[in-house]
Amino acid sequence: MAEREKAPEDAKGRPWVKTLFSYARRCKGKMIASFAVSLASVGAGFVPFYAVYRLMAMAMDGSLTWDGSVLWLALAAVFYLASKVLFGISTLLSHVSAYTILETLRQDFVRKLMKASLGTVQAKSIGNLKNVFVDRIESIEPPLAHMIPELGGSLVLAAGLAAWLVAIDWRIALACLACVPVGLAVFASSLKDFNAKYAAYMAESNRVNGVIVEYIEGIQVVKAFNQASDSYEKYAGSVRAFKEFTMQWFRSTWVTMNLMSSIMPTTLLGVLPVGLALYFSGSLAPSGLAMGIVLSLAIVDPLMRFTSFVNEMKSMEYAVADAAEFLDLPELPEPKSRAETSGFAVEMKDVRFSYKAGEEVLHGVSLSVPQGTFTALVGPSGSGKSTLARLIARHWDVDAGSVSVGGTDVRSMPLDQLSELVSFVQQDNFLFDATIGDNIRLGKPKATDEEIARAARAACCDEFVKRLPCGYGTSAGEAGRFLSGGERQRISIARAILKDAPVIVLDEATAFTDPENEDKIQRSIARLAAGKTLVVIAHRLSTITRADQIAVVDGGSIVALGTHEDLLGSCPLYARMWAAHVGTQDWAAGSNAEGGNR
Ligand code: ADP
Repeated sequence: MAEREKAPEDAKGRPWVKTLFSYARRCKGKMIASFAVSLASVGAGFVPFYAVYRLMAMAMDGSLTWDGSVLWLALAAVFYLASKVLFGISTLLSHVSAYTILETLRQDFVRKLMKASLGTVQAKSIGNLKNVFVDRIESIEPPLAHMIPELGGSLVLAAGLAAWLVAIDWRIALACLACVPVGLAVFASSLKDFNAKYAAYMAESNRVNGVIVEYIEGIQVVKAFNQASDSYEKYAGSVRAFKEFTMQWFRSTWVTMNLMSSIMPTTLLGVLPVGLALYFSGSLAPSGLAMGIVLSLAIVDPLMRFTSFVNEMKSMEYAVADAAEFLDLPELPEPKSRAETSGFAVEMKDVRFSYKAGEEVLHGVSLSVPQGTFTALVGPSGSGKSTLARLIARHWDVDAGSVSVGGTDVRSMPLDQLSELVSFVQQDNFLFDATIGDNIRLGKPKATDEEIARAARAACCDEFVKRLPCGYGTSAGEAGRFLSGGERQRISIARAILKDAPVIVLDEATAFTDPENEDKIQRSIARLAAGKTLVVIAHRLSTITRADQIAVVDGGSIVALGTHEDLLGSCPLYARMWAAHVGTQDWAAGSNAEGGNR
């Protein structure tokens, strides 16, 4: 929290306002126009005051006639109307600008997600990402949309009215504005430690958000283990602590805030006695006195509005700094133009990699996967199989050595090109909130319905999709209730079949072991892999006995490489894993048989 006690700057060290305006590249013109129109609105707003002044002056020197007053009344009405219309236009332009900035921020964010390494993105919690890019960015909109017309206009209006007061009589202007420095001084005292307090407030708010998200996400476990009271205590305690923190802050400022809002509007307190004294001494005309009173009342509103923006500016400052923290994440360097490739072999040369500095996970791994062959990665949990697989899809960059596809280093081709070459089918087969058909279509956005159906048939999905209430048109959310884990995985295999990339990296599912599902998944994988370069992270050794080569990974190195038969004889680790696997299968078969006998 300590580093947040001064005004936040973004990762590039720019002040936040500069950062905010750097996001306004698409709406600079509109923002300038909004400000210009707001000035015009303020200018037009002076005319009714001037009309009142003229009418009063005429009334007081006895020259007021009905015909003479009609002109001023009409002018006052027209300019009042014009000022309101111009204000409306300025607000409209500023709202369009504010929403454009929000849109730009969110688009930049998604672009950043695509360009940054997966590791950098995954290091951020989903709750944090959601908080910044949904809620906090939204909080920029209201102040931003109102600041240009209202704050800009208020400042100019207050300055204009003050100048007019000076033109009437500098002493009445002083009397009017005497309360302002007193009010501002009180206001400033309420802002003592504001930065530190606001930083603490944000930290508290993030903490309570985190606890709420954790509680809701974990509700299933809470219920299953009957932990309702303990978990609720933690939840309720955080919510209570947050309330107490905000109440304490409120209590520490409410006297000064109320004092300020009582002092600032008391312009009449000075204007009335001073104005009357000047009037009776003959140095101020009656119309000057009347106008002084009118202007001193009119100046209150813009001054008060200005103070109300302080809090909102601060919340904007934090939201911008938080967004910038994500938007300035380092990107994976990639060339602009496509690279030449030849064939679809995968080659890893002396690859070293660590997720965290100083904790190397892969220690100089070399592996050659010839085009069109099937390579399996096996090894104990945590040995580095998934990491190897992810490096082929360039979810991260290697620390040393190289990974190449088609003879070209993956860092030397644009990410789009690599994505065309490599399909990574993972265990957690994510379905988007779209129809089942569209979920498959993600593999090839321009695919026809017939192509989707063909891919679905190849992945053994057709039969269960047809049973869904609206077939391929069933939404994934609705279908989720009917789909088993294995069926979900087959949909993601259909997606990969449709994509038809020449290199397939597949994380074999561990969870779905019922024989029928297993058989269908194996058949669909065989169709997906036909003629492709295939790398499989294998969890069940029976599925890879026919692999062209099996790489045994242990402790971040490949300790043996060969066919199933080779390894049974030459690699004790593999032989042990095989024996354990066969044992489990026997046990499973035995317990099934026992179950069947019961
Ligand atoms: P396997 O797939 O063989 O189970 P992994 O490649 O997932 O092994 O993990 C290899 C090592 O890297 C493990 O020690 C694991 O804890 C670590 N690891 C995996 N993913 C991450 C990550 N995103 N951040 C930090 N460490 C990780």
